[in-house]
Amino acid sequence: MKLEQELAQELAAREAQGLRRVRRRLDSPQRARVEVDGRPCIAFCANDYLGLAADPRLAAAARESLMLHGVGAGASHLILGHSRAHQALEEALAAFSGYPAALLFSTGYMANLGAISALVGRGDAVFADRLNHASLNDAALLSRATFRRYAHNDLDALERLLATTPARRRLVATDAVFSMDGDIAPVPELMALCERHDALLYLDDAHGFGVLGEQGRGTLSHFGVSSSRIVYMATLGKAAGVSGAFVAASGLVVETLLQNARTYTYTTAAPPLLAHTLLTSLELIAREEPRREQLRARIAQLREGLAGLPWQLLPSRTPIQPLIVGDNAAALALSARLAEQDILVPAIRPPTVPPGTARLRISLSSDHGAADVACLVAALRAAA
Ligand SMILES: *Cc1c(COP(=O)(O)O)cnc(C)c1O
Repeated sequence: MKLEQELAQELAAREAQGLRRVRRRLDSPQRARVEVDGRPCIAFCANDYLGLAADPRLAAAARESLMLHGVGAGASHLILGHSRAHQALEEALAAFSGYPAALLFSTGYMANLGAISALVGRGDAVFADRLNHASLNDAALLSRATFRRYAHNDLDALERLLATTPARRRLVATDAVFSMDGDIAPVPELMALCERHDALLYLDDAHGFGVLGEQGRGTLSHFGVSSSRIVYMATLGKAAGVSGAFVAASGLVVETLLQNARTYTYTTAAPPLLAHTLLTSLELIAREEPRREQLRARIAQLREGLAGLPWQLLPSRTPIQPLIVGDNAAALALSARLAEQDILVPAIRPPTVPPGTARLRISLSSDHGAADVACLVAALRAAA
């Protein structure tokens, strides 16, 4: 079949460029020390920044909810899938992030697709940081609004775009913490720009929620910023350790999403036991500051340990610590060399990152001990 020949050629070309991806099989719960393909390893791969994914208290909450609610939601939110647990979680998330209302989505990807395409459409414009997460780009394309990207954190470039757009509604979309670089967007400055040009600021805090700010309330709290001009989105499968996402905003915006977001309307609600479990997760996030202290200590230890290596460690203050290797094959080789020593760090290559910036993306968690980070540092220094 012709199609099969073409697919085989495309896959072979991908392989030849060192871009073929393969999966490892996790044989244990998600933690700093895991079993992978039958071998014990130290992993620096997960977004489980607070070590909550395998927390026994969350497992207990899930078990309790399982007996209470059963497994499946059975319907979409707007039919009869919206349970008491979903409702309670939405209220808790809105209060925690400082907004009047919040709406749950099954994943962050779906939240971005649904929310952005519900807020803007033909004749409107979306302005997006060039390093934004793929889901924000796909959301802008799906919305059919004019889609313009500006150089990473380039406020002047953004201002020029905002000043010259004929679009009726303008939405600026940005990662709050950039998922492949670990840096934090200049939110107060972005907000000022959006004020001046009457634009909405859509902030994707997938990596800041639970990690940054007072009690882990996220990037807005980190900057001490709050505004009804900001539509705030965060995911619940990263620091929160479970699954899902929410968008928090004014009552008007949330009601608009409830009516218009197609990834909200046309999908089965997530199992209520996840929402119930997330209520416990939210309590732990707020209450257990030592997890964030531990995380900050590991970040400092890693940065100190990797100073002076031939590879550039990007200036990140978050648990995402990228070590730029440059060449795809070299990044893969370094990752493979660590894997031989049972240390797992993913090599991230284009198209996820710009060409020539292949990197090891080191993700830290409060579950990592000082000895775990010391192992990684020693292995990288030996490889250098
Ligand atoms: C992970 C991530 C998403 C997608 O969230 P999921 O819940 O995994 O679908 C969206 N935006 C950013 C910035 C992310 O890092």
